[in-house]
Amino acid sequence: MAEPPSPRPPSIDQMVRGLAPTGLPHPLLVDLAREAVAAGDPASAEERAVRLRRSLLGRVINATGVLIHTNLGRSPLPFTSTGSYTNLELDLETGRRGSRQANVSGLVARLAGAEAALVVNNGAAALLLVLSSLAAGRRVVVSRGELVEIGGGFRVPEVMAASGATLVEVGTTNKTRLDDYAGAGSDQDTALILKVHQSNYRVVGFTSEVGVEALSRLGPPVVYDIGSGLLDSDTPWLAGPPPPWLAGEPGARQALQNGAALVTFSGDKLMGGPQAGIIAGRAELVEACARQPLARALRPGGLILEALQEVCLSYLRRHCVPFWRMATLPVDELSRRADCLAKSPDAKDWSVTACRSVPGGGSLPGVQIDSAGLCTPGDRRAALLAAAVPVLARVQDGHTFIDLRTVDPAEEPDLLAALGGAARP
Ligand SMILES: *Cc1c(COP(=O)(O)O)cnc(C)c1O
Repeated sequence: MAEPPSPRPPSIDQMVRGLAPTGLPHPLLVDLAREAVAAGDPASAEERAVRLRRSLLGRVINATGVLIHTNLGRSPLPFTSTGSYTNLELDLETGRRGSRQANVSGLVARLAGAEAALVVNNGAAALLLVLSSLAAGRRVVVSRGELVEIGGGFRVPEVMAASGATLVEVGTTNKTRLDDYAGAGSDQDTALILKVHQSNYRVVGFTSEVGVEALSRLGPPVVYDIGSGLLDSDTPWLAGPPPPWLAGEPGARQALQNGAALVTFSGDKLMGGPQAGIIAGRAELVEACARQPLARALRPGGLILEALQEVCLSYLRRHCVPFWRMATLPVDELSRRADCLAKSPDAKDWSVTACRSVPGGGSLPGVQIDSAGLCTPGDRRAALLAAAVPVLARVQDGHTFIDLRTVDPAEEPDLLAALGGAARP
C-alpha cells in the first residue's frame, strides 16, 4: 500500500503573513514559522507566537490582594518616561558634567531626614556597598537573631563575606542584650554595628532585641538595614493617622533620629517606587560609599532615577503613590465596586465576598488588611491567567478570590472580560 502523499508545508512567507496580527516583529515571526516547520507541525506556529507574545513583559491585573507582589514587580509604578534626553549627568548651572545622583538623592535624603543619600540598584546592593566601603577587612557586629535570609538568596552572612568584612555574631536567636554587643562593640577593629530588620518573619515569645538608640551609644557607627523602606513611621503623606498594621515597622526618619548612622532600604517595597536600593544618613559615610569603585557597578540607570524622582515628588506633595492609595482604600469603597461588578453578566459565576489583603514582598509578616472582592467555588486561576490581559487571582479554602484592593478601577473592564472568558460553560 502506498503512503498518502504528505501535504507540502506552506511557505514561510505565507505563514509569517498569517502571524502578523500577533504584533511580533517580522524576524521573530520568521524564526517561529521555521521552528514550527522544522518540528513537522506548521500549524503550531500560531500557538508558538501566542506563547512568545505572552512571555514578553506585559500588563497583568493583580487580583491577589498582595500589595507588594514579587512576581509582578513588587509595587506598581506611577510613571511613564517621555523618552527624551534628560539632564541625567549635566549640571544646568555650569553646563558641565554633573552627578547623576545629585537631584534624586537630595529628595530621598529630604524625605528620610538624612544629611545625604545614595541610590543603587536594590536593597541587597545597598548593604553590600555599605559593608565593602566602610568595613572591608574589619569587623561588623550583628545579633544572631538578625542573620536572616530575605527573598531568594539574600543572606546576611553571605553578603558580609562578599564585602570582605568579618562577621562577629553576638547573642542568641531569640535574645540579644546590650551586654552582648558591649564586648564586641568596644573592640578597636569593629568598623560597624549592623542591625537588620526581621522583615519577613517574626520571633515571638521569649525574645529581646536591642534598639538603635542604645546601640548608637556604644561607639561604632550603627548601620540599620530597615529593608522595607517606610520613609517615616508618622506617614505624613496619608490624610489620616498611620494604619494600625504598620505598628512596629521601622521608619527611615525615626531610625536616623534614634542614632543610626546609616539606613539602607529597598525602593520598591513600602516606598512604592521602582526597584532601587537606598543608603541614607551621615554625609561622610554616604560619600565614602559613593567613592567606592563598586558604586559604579551598582549604580542605577536614568529610567530608575527618573521614576524614583517622581515618587519622591509625590511624597513631598503629600500625594499617595499607588501602593499607599491601594493599601489605605476603605473597605466600603471596595464592597461598592464588588457589588457593581457582580451585576455584570460576565461575573454571573461570581459572588461578592469579604477577603483579606496582605502587604506582601516579604514585609509585615502576619499583617492582614480587610478587603472585598468576588469569589467563586473551585480553582479558576488558569482560565483567568489565559485572558487577553492576564488576571492573577488567589485560591483559598477551595475558592478563587478576586481581591479588588490591588485592582485599579481603570482595570475593571479588562477584569470583567477575563471573568467572562473564564465563565463555566
Ligand atoms: C527586602 C530586603 C532586603 C533586600 O532588598 P532587595 O531590594 O530585594 O535587594 C534586604 N534587607 C531587608 C531587611 C529586606 O527587607
